[in-house]
Amino acid sequence: MRVLVIEDEAKVARFVKKGLLENNFAVDIAPDGEEGLFLAQNEKYDLIVLDLMLPKLDGLELLKKLRKEGKDTPVICLTAKGRFEDRIKGFNAGTDDYLVKPFRFAELLARLRAILRRSTKEPKSAVLEYADLILDQRTRQAKRRDRIIVLTAKEYAILELLMRNAEEIVTRTMITESAWDYNFDFMSNVVDVHIRRLREKVDEEERIKLIHTVRGMGYVLKKESS
Ligand code: CA
Repeated sequence: MRVLVIEDEAKVARFVKKGLLENNFAVDIAPDGEEGLFLAQNEKYDLIVLDLMLPKLDGLELLKKLRKEGKDTPVICLTAKGRFEDRIKGFNAGTDDYLVKPFRFAELLARLRAILRRSTKEPKSAVLEYADLILDQRTRQAKRRDRIIVLTAKEYAILELLMRNAEEIVTRTMITESAWDYNFDFMSNVVDVHIRRLREKVDEEERIKLIHTVRGMGYVLKKESS
């Protein structure tokens, strides 16, 4: 899951980014409306956290532009303005939710998850299953039968993507887009490193291997005996 945070207050941006990273989201920050609009138009995000009072381009204008272009990425507006009429304007401009500053991170996270569930980007059930592999999205833990597999944040993000697209090819681009931010160096072999570790944890002691390389294309989660 990749989130764009458009926020000019560095302190708030850092606070939101830190919390999201701790919850295994990939995060990009835009410090003004113009950069925010550019990223929202040109990159793929699962959700945008949008401050309304922004330099260069106002948050509401940004949102109207995005919606006019047909971009339906879910948006949560952040603002110091809690007045009723501002909320109405926000909803009219196409926001999915609204959060008044100051807010607690737990509330942002709860709203964000609710929106992702509604937009069906996140499955209703908290548990993903494939063969004897189970991934619990609440505890962030994987299991094969009774063997508990402890995952790093990146390994979790990759396994989640593989499980959601089970038996389909998941490309390296899909992995980097969902687990890394746009500063990611696409030439590096960091994805392979994470996959290798993930595969050791998931498959090494198992007769049925689940994570497979598709040469020149990416990876696939499928049942195959060794
Ligand atoms: Ca602001």
